[in-house]
Amino acid sequence: MKKSVESGYLLGKIDELLDRVGCPICELTFESVDDNIDTLFYENVNDPSEREKFSAGPGFCPKHLKMVEEHLKMHPELGILGVSVLYGTLDDDLKRALNDESVNFGVRCQLCDDEADAEKRYSDLFIQYISNEDRIKKYENSISTVCLKHTRDLLKNSNVNSNFKGIQEIKIERTLNSLKEFIRKNDYRYSKEPVTIMEGEAWKVISKFLY
Ligand SMILES: [Zn+2]
Ligand SMILES: [Zn+2]
Repeated sequence: MKKSVESGYLLGKIDELLDRVGCPICELTFESVDDNIDTLFYENVNDPSEREKFSAGPGFCPKHLKMVEEHLKMHPELGILGVSVLYGTLDDDLKRALNDESVNFGVRCQLCDDEADAEKRYSDLFIQYISNEDRIKKYENSISTVCLKHTRDLLKNSNVNSNFKGIQEIKIERTLNSLKEFIRKNDYRYSKEPVTIMEGEAWKVISKFLY
């Protein structure tokens, strides 16, 4: 019972994300990792197993370090004691690295693991979302577009709706046409024709598709 209520709520979240430029799987994964960063600094930093996970990295990878920095900037109430405690666990690694020993900082980043789990969870959820004919139609007509990486992942999954590949092709074709229209309307001869939202956002749809 609980599971179906939860997935009903999450399917509703995908509904909301269809109105936004970007990939719903990327958006939900980002939110989930961001929540984990919050929990880490809010309560888990005193947990020895969390400190061990950080030392195993050692540290965060560059992508997740950026997310941590952004999160701490947005949430000054978390303070910097937590992140200081974590970096304090790296003293031996830092000394070894200075002594020319090879230490690969961030290769086993704990947030990379969290991200992989979330990606799997939300890819399955999206597959469930588009298994319904009304919902896949809604996705087809929306501005949101599953990114290239997640398109490739979904197409390897035998449970995905067989129309998904064709819909991705239609969406990219439509975006490219909008982009061409935007460029055309920037010519002074056609500048009286109004630019649609889709035309103005087309470059963002493509850049997020490749992100
Ligand atoms: Zn994605
Ligand atoms: Zn990482």
